[in-house]
Amino acid sequence: MVLDRILDGKTLAQNLQDQLKAEIQALEPRAGRPPGLAVLMVGDNPASAAYVRGKERACAQVGIASFGEHFPGDTSQAELLEAIEALNQDHRVDGILVQLPLPSHLDATALLETITPAKDADGLHPVNLGKLLRGEPGLRSCTPAGVMRLLEAYQIHLAGRRVVVVGRSILVGKPLALMLLEAHSTVTIAHSRTPDLAEVTRSADILVAAAGQPGLIKADMVKPQAVVVDVGINRVPGGPTGSHLVGDVDFAAVYPVARGITPVPGGIGPMTVAMLLHNTVWSYRQQLGS
Ligand code: NAD
Repeated sequence: MVLDRILDGKTLAQNLQDQLKAEIQALEPRAGRPPGLAVLMVGDNPASAAYVRGKERACAQVGIASFGEHFPGDTSQAELLEAIEALNQDHRVDGILVQLPLPSHLDATALLETITPAKDADGLHPVNLGKLLRGEPGLRSCTPAGVMRLLEAYQIHLAGRRVVVVGRSILVGKPLALMLLEAHSTVTIAHSRTPDLAEVTRSADILVAAAGQPGLIKADMVKPQAVVVDVGINRVPGGPTGSHLVGDVDFAAVYPVARGITPVPGGIGPMTVAMLLHNTVWSYRQQLGS
């Protein structure tokens, strides 16, 4: 895609989904079944429910069968472990995803580790994170993979470039830094204990914000002509419906400074969903041996 200031994750994700749909149509006659994704949700967090609906809608669009299960908020760890074990054995299911965050009485790590690594659609199992660390093929975490795919689609050169990632979570910051290293970037991770964040971010040719802090990145923290990727999704008060979504970047102020910038919404969010579908089809292919 041609770089046009706005890095349009929404259109790119739609293109990727169209490709996946064609791929599934070509594979399904041989497989005798469509790919399957099971999204497990516990409780009634409205943001999680919206994400799960979005994922199931995207599955339907490309021809992935959904095996979603919605559990009440007081579901026990044992019940969930049993559900995951059953999905591990279910031959119609290629990907399993536990929607986070979970209610506080549940141990998310133990649940994620129960998912068989071959069906770990979110790429968060230690085996898959270990493969990423070693640079081996495997299922990659969806959000960082979405960032990488977007940079690749816009032909943002990464080798030797200075990339700063703000945020060090296991979901986004850490795996993304490893993927950027794999692409030969010079990577710096900044986080909440970084003393002078602006000094670090100003050194970036490519700046990725994944801190969960609305408007954290201001114009004077961005090197002129840098590429800015905003992973943050924060609901803040205001707008016609009483609240709206913003990223971690002060978009209006940074837009004139940057060479390219992802919007929120319409940037990394849809790319994350596209990579989830990509992972499910990847596992399906592994199952088929193709
Ligand atoms: P997290 O809370 O687990 O991690 C946030 C990280 O940011 C931490 O490592 C922390 O050290 C760092 N941080 C916090 N405040 C900071 C500050 N003031 N200065 C520098 N660093 C700071 O969050 P997460 O799960 O990694 O998510 C980060 C953001 O990305 C959130 O807004 C989340 O909603 C969003 N997100 C988006 C997608 C997507 O699909 N686009 C997917 C996952 C997460």
